[in-house]
Amino acid sequence: MSPHLELLHSRVASPRRQIATVYPFALFVPAICVLTVCLGTSPVVRAAANSAELPGVRYTVSLADPQKHLLRVTLDIPAGAADHDLQLPVWNALYQIRDFSQYVEWVRAKDRTGHPLPLHLLDKSRWKVSGAGDGAQIEYEIFADNPGPYGAQFSAQHAFLNLAEVLMYPVDLRAASMQLRFTNVPPNWRVATALPGARENQFTAGNYDLLVDAPFEIGTFRERDFDQGGGHYRVVVDADPADYNMDKLVPTVRRIVTAATSWMNDRPFDTYLFLYHFPRGPGGGGMEHSYSTAIDVNTSVLANDEHAFADVTAHEFFHLWNVKRIRPQSLTPADYSKENYTTALWFSEGVTNTVQDYLCLQAGLLDEPHYLTRLAGEIGELERRPAHRMQSAEEASLDAWLEKYSPYLVPARSISYYNKGDVLGVMLDLAVRDGSHGTASLRDVFRWMNQNYAQKGRPFPDSDGVRQAAETVSHANFAWFFQKYVAGTEEIPWDDFLKSVGLHLLRQSTITAEPGFWAVRNSDAPPLVSGLAQDSDAGFAGLAVGDSILEINGRVTSSDFRQQLAELQPGETLHLLIRRDGRERQIAWKMRSREDLEFELKDLDSVTPQQKARRAAWLSGQDQAPDEPHP
Ligand SMILES: [Zn+2]
Repeated sequence: MSPHLELLHSRVASPRRQIATVYPFALFVPAICVLTVCLGTSPVVRAAANSAELPGVRYTVSLADPQKHLLRVTLDIPAGAADHDLQLPVWNALYQIRDFSQYVEWVRAKDRTGHPLPLHLLDKSRWKVSGAGDGAQIEYEIFADNPGPYGAQFSAQHAFLNLAEVLMYPVDLRAASMQLRFTNVPPNWRVATALPGARENQFTAGNYDLLVDAPFEIGTFRERDFDQGGGHYRVVVDADPADYNMDKLVPTVRRIVTAATSWMNDRPFDTYLFLYHFPRGPGGGGMEHSYSTAIDVNTSVLANDEHAFADVTAHEFFHLWNVKRIRPQSLTPADYSKENYTTALWFSEGVTNTVQDYLCLQAGLLDEPHYLTRLAGEIGELERRPAHRMQSAEEASLDAWLEKYSPYLVPARSISYYNKGDVLGVMLDLAVRDGSHGTASLRDVFRWMNQNYAQKGRPFPDSDGVRQAAETVSHANFAWFFQKYVAGTEEIPWDDFLKSVGLHLLRQSTITAEPGFWAVRNSDAPPLVSGLAQDSDAGFAGLAVGDSILEINGRVTSSDFRQQLAELQPGETLHLLIRRDGRERQIAWKMRSREDLEFELKDLDSVTPQQKARRAAWLSGQDQAPDEPHP
């Protein structure tokens, strides 16, 4: 996921200054990014499902009522057991309990002859149907109007559906084959999904997890396809054609898939689908799936941030390996009935950020100065959060389920597993290169995990699996790295890692604008004020904790709101449009100045040829030949 488009932008990556600013006290939580909720079972695990022996389950979803955003779902259960528990997932697409049953209007059950069957509620998201030995039909209506890659929305404009948010499943038949049919589809609407279609508007999947791993876009989208390296790629965009240029987007996508399949030396699919929305309002993020991704980029971000589209596209595409196929044991299979705890998000999300940048570098979509600025920004982001001394990368992964609560997001309470995982990925890469004298790298760690877990249909044992891969490809011991920096909270000695590529970290103080408040952004909602500095001008101007920030200086807030605030100058007047208790109001005040810390990555006084060679290999994602000189 990338709820975190935000995270991506939390990096202060202004090309004008090769310096990353670090805020003194945790101003903005980096995104709460829940980016990737990687739900679903990996393709590998899917293959193991014994669907052939179980009779199939059929879903029919009627699109007859777009005005009320109501989906009418019919679930046909085959003859077999007398009783079935029916579960509607409590979470999907974000590591947050969202209780989709809140949107269920009514449910009823009947037998094949149309007679009602007993249906009992077992808990807020689970029902039991009895007397279903000859088969049963469950019917319900569910409201769907949550836009974005983590939601389900049915409106007069389109339907975008994460199916786990609208389809309940018979618990005993989760591994059975599935059929899905849409009825009452408006005549000019088409369907885009990665699932195979049996016939028009009818689709099949080997089991429930495969079914819900494929989002649906149904409407009047535009599509551009291309072939690359033997794979077929579909780029589907549902947005106002005035807001984007397909001729610019498609070559970027092509460069990313070329870089990624080459870096992994693998292409575990024939066809892959990119689904894009470019909303004008708040919103942004991406959600990975095994054979597709759904991505939202706010139109102003798309227009003003040259890296945003490539960043989120590379992130979600790389997830098709890391998290979907290279899958942590703790998420296998996904438990839809409650929180699914995992220690591995620092790797599955954070190191996906690491590789996202590597792929953009290799694709020519990011250059070295921008990359080093980003990396310094990520280091600064971690250093300025006091919680980095208390909460480990593994603990932050376990605590992902708290990210929907604002108090959890303040810098003294939590770090981001995207952020720490990102820098750990870089440091692990440099350490593997060191340990192997340049002959192995993070690329080989991923290739080894792909061959030894993903391609064998096995999940990896969380952090231990990553350590084992690093030790195998480097022939060096990595217990220290995982004890100190993954499971532990020791300060990371940046310069020790960076020396091999001729860099060191510089911290210096600077004068910047003091917004005087903290804001956090959860998923794709507008940023929320989570705290005010003592005696802050923001408070005197009328800003209060809990206010939603809709606009900053006339621009709709989106995933890049932190960067917008970071670019303010002392003495400048900040205009906010906020919403409180359903009412909108304008607030403005003049920014004070404050002393701040800047982080920058600089060349060592003298960079040796060996360090130069190592840096070149690092930034190109390649290993050095075994006989090349090494530092
Ligand atoms: Zn992600």
